[in-house]
Amino acid sequence: WALLRDIFGKSVPPDTDESVAAFVRRKFSDQLLDRLVGPFVSGVYAGDPEKLSMRSAFPQLHEAEKALGSIVRGMLRLAKSKKGPRERPTLNTFRDGNETFVRALANQLGSSVLTKTSAMNIYRQNDGSFQVALDGSGNESISAKSVIFAAPTDVTGKLLAQLNPSFESLLTSVEYAAVVVVSLGYRKIDVGHRLDGFGFLVPRSSGLRVLGTVWNSSLFPGRAPEGQVLLTTFVGGATDPSAATLKSEELSSLVHREIGPVLSIKASPTFSNVTIWPRALPQYNLGHGERLAAIAGNLARFPGLFLTGNYLRGPAIGSCVEQALAVAEEVRMQLER
Ligand SMILES: Cc1cc2nc3c(=O)[nH]c(=O)nc-3n(C[C@H](O)[C@H](O)[C@H](O)COP(=O)(O)OP(=O)(O)OC[C@H]3O[C@@H](n4cnc5c(N)ncnc54)[C@H](O)[C@@H]3O)c2cc1C
Repeated sequence: WALLRDIFGKSVPPDTDESVAAFVRRKFSDQLLDRLVGPFVSGVYAGDPEKLSMRSAFPQLHEAEKALGSIVRGMLRLAKSKKGPRERPTLNTFRDGNETFVRALANQLGSSVLTKTSAMNIYRQNDGSFQVALDGSGNESISAKSVIFAAPTDVTGKLLAQLNPSFESLLTSVEYAAVVVVSLGYRKIDVGHRLDGFGFLVPRSSGLRVLGTVWNSSLFPGRAPEGQVLLTTFVGGATDPSAATLKSEELSSLVHREIGPVLSIKASPTFSNVTIWPRALPQYNLGHGERLAAIAGNLARFPGLFLTGNYLRGPAIGSCVEQALAVAEEVRMQLER
């Protein structure tokens, strides 16, 4: 009924920033929030729908309602307006982990990139260019007309505070959620479930602490030895920050205890690996849009300074790459001026 009301009716988003939870309750139902949107938000942002800003976290849905008064009609129009052949999204990974990508970039760039080097300080010189003090590469500093900051907000905030102190308070006010990744291996014969799919996400109302599990060895070859399976489970996120303070053994037994009944697992894991990411994902919480606008306002006073990263226009790797390419283009245009 709520879907029909959206398709045939007309609604107007509030002028003020609205949380994802408030949006779903206003347009649809509590049940949709618990069963579908909440778990989806965990999967993308490890976020809390009560705190995430609808217009910052899901700008296309916000714009769809604003333009046409309907999410469904707005999204259909957006899909039609996209030119060129429609690409089906595919799942991709690197056999030896994401580091493969970074190594390939470093190899391709050769000596023009300084790896294992940290930016320590930045100064503006009299001619408007920047001097960046370095640690690690043997070079003490480099001078540049343009500088792109691609580090997380805490690092970028501290560095930019040397140019204008308000950068630090604005950038560090972006909250991050901690995420724990627990990888458990099992003998295939000990897992009752067929694992024929992607995995599952867990509604918070279930009382479980796991956010979701990806059936890694079903998705990608070479993820587990013959006769074994690898299950990657996420715990923590913005709705359960204390999970990241547990010990590794506690986390792997918690995950085994919780996913065991869901997947009919009959024996203990044969392999376990726990990684805690204390600042895993930036949260596009209420007020995020205003924070970014204030940061952009500050940045405008320093021609040649650019920002990119997962706290700006989407946390997925694809969004980060798109953003980085757009910033590189801006820099190219600026240097050609
Ligand atoms: C557990 C987990 C699972 C995820 N799964 C997926 C997924 O399946 N699909 C997906 O699309 N996205 C996923 N993401 C999100 C995605 O991986 C990140 O949002 C994205 O990689 C962030 O890219 P970034 O360039 O903004 O930041 P980062 O990749 O964090 O890069 C920042 C860089 O800045 C460097 N740096 C820091 N300080 C300095 C300094 N002083 N000087 C110089 N350099 C510095 C760091 O070394 C780092 O290399 C996941 C994230 C997490 C935490």
